[in-house]
Amino acid sequence: MIHLLLKTKKFIPNEFHNNFFDIDFKKLYNNGIRLILTDLDNTLISYANSKPTEKIVSKFDELTKLGFEVIVISNNVPSRISVFLEGLDYKGLGNARKPLLIGLKKALRLADNDYAHSQTVIIGDQLMTDIYCANRFKAYSILVNPLMKKTEKWYTKMNRKTEVKMLKKIKNKYPKKFNELSLDKRK
Ligand SMILES: [Mg+2]
Repeated sequence: MIHLLLKTKKFIPNEFHNNFFDIDFKKLYNNGIRLILTDLDNTLISYANSKPTEKIVSKFDELTKLGFEVIVISNNVPSRISVFLEGLDYKGLGNARKPLLIGLKKALRLADNDYAHSQTVIIGDQLMTDIYCANRFKAYSILVNPLMKKTEKWYTKMNRKTEVKMLKKIKNKYPKKFNELSLDKRK
């Protein structure tokens, strides 16, 4: 299995929270983060939905007021991103091909300002895609629990199986970090 050849450290997120709303964005801002690249599926909405909730829209507006730029970055088709962002003043990128870095580079070019990788946070629900690319990109990485697992596509289900093995490796190799991050609460 390919994950055995990958460096365990690259899969450890900087933070882990139950969901997007539990993230302390003020703290991120104070630590110099200015660009938020957030995943869409199972991070902001489940596969069963296509439009953002009011709570997400007001959160995005709050983040903008705080001084962040928010860009939605997803491996899903671009049409899903445009439906999600319809009528909203936010940018998005589909076919991002995470864990490759190509989409992240594109998102940085898409941003209104020039941001350093170190000013960027990548938020997502998947260790094998979102966190792995964030760490290699030298961005700040935040893992959240998936909103609804049962509607996931086959390739995401495969990533989840690999993730379970990776979590075991993190627990064995970096037990202190595993506990600090409360990764036992990973769903
Ligand atoms: Mg996702």
